[in-house]
Amino acid sequence: MHEFSIADAIATQVARHARPGARVRDVEIVVGALRGIEPEALLMSWQAVTFETPLEGCTLTIEQKPWTIACGNCGRTWASPVPFVTCECGNDVPEPHGTDELDLVALTIEEDEPGEGADAAAGATPGAGATADSPPVAD
Ligand SMILES: [Zn+2]
Repeated sequence: MHEFSIADAIATQVARHARPGARVRDVEIVVGALRGIEPEALLMSWQAVTFETPLEGCTLTIEQKPWTIACGNCGRTWASPVPFVTCECGNDVPEPHGTDELDLVALTIEEDEPGEGADAAAGATPGAGATADSPPVAD
């Protein structure tokens, strides 16, 4: 299935960009018209691909680039969600031009523990500090 391999490729790309352990809430992609993506099929594939992975529950936002239609008769160009249309001038075979990009444009990541990044930055501090921070509970 076409959409399945695309969903798989997106998941691989997301995993490469997100830090291990980071919770990705939303992934936004831009898809060119030439890709011929069925958004519903891609969303279903996305759920299947991310099932029982750290990306489970992450939403996929798909922005589809429209076709650019160029009429050789009157010189008009315009954007259209479908490739085969009729021009206002009566030309029923204007030329559709599409792009084939598949770009990951945004990741929304929810950090589990806000302090985690600071700890990593202060990596020079020996681990002994951690025990001093959390004294045993006096009972
Ligand atoms: Zn025209």
